[in-house]
Amino acid sequence: MKKFIVVSVLLLFLCSCQNVDINKALDITFTTIQVTEKAARPISDEEEYYVGRAVAARLLQSYPLYEDPELTRYINLIGETIALHSEKPFTYGGYHFAVLNSNEINAFACPGGIILITKGMIKLAQNEDEIAAILAHEIAHINHRDGINSIKQARWTEALTIIGTKAARQFGSEELVRLVNIFEGSVDDVVKTLVVNGYSRTQEYSADESALLYLAKAGYDPRALINVLERLKKSTTAYGTGIFKTHPQPDDRINNLKDKLPSVSVDLNLFKKRVQRFRFFVKN
Ligand SMILES: [Zn+2]
Repeated sequence: MKKFIVVSVLLLFLCSCQNVDINKALDITFTTIQVTEKAARPISDEEEYYVGRAVAARLLQSYPLYEDPELTRYINLIGETIALHSEKPFTYGGYHFAVLNSNEINAFACPGGIILITKGMIKLAQNEDEIAAILAHEIAHINHRDGINSIKQARWTEALTIIGTKAARQFGSEELVRLVNIFEGSVDDVVKTLVVNGYSRTQEYSADESALLYLAKAGYDPRALINVLERLKKSTTAYGTGIFKTHPQPDDRINNLKDKLPSVSVDLNLFKKRVQRFRFFVKN
């Protein structure tokens, strides 16, 4: 309906001008609509994957990988289990989890499904459910598209205007350079948000709330998120660095979750088995 009104207004305007025939008016109008519609479309899952991959590559320049295949496999096992119980169980490029060789307490969700967790963060956790809680919070950021939404709107609009007006094979070198610059700028926006500025409090609280639901659905104890936040609160030496810099204070996050804990009965036998395998894979 809205589109029809826009078409009608544009046609009326164009036809009211002298020497403009109706066919030309229609042509101009529909070209305008096509470009506007393309400029308004959201970033696709495929595009999100490519931005996320570049974001991960950029983070790995500052935080090298911790190369422990057994630990990495274990973290992937937990992460994949949580992801399967989220709103978006599969992404274009899949979920991938890796450990960073850093004592900083931190974790990063790159758009599209790459999640990086530091050795310092793993050390903070005292059991598998707490690792699952940290990963669930990061998976929620991916499901909510928080990373990809931190790209400045103007960049995306400019990219779509270039993409929408020409087929890729017709791009001149100047347009390609502009597209590469927009891509690099988009990666900068996300990295800056992940490492320096952080998301809004609303986005963080929302990621915590979704994490509780994923944990409960996957058979983990959702209270593990509150437990790990309590532990984070006590690690005062890390104040002002890593996750403290980009997230609300642990106390505020705990307060937000207090009346939102789903009531679940945790299977104690399975919990004990998870404690055992945590001890096996995570050598604190
Ligand atoms: Zn977060």
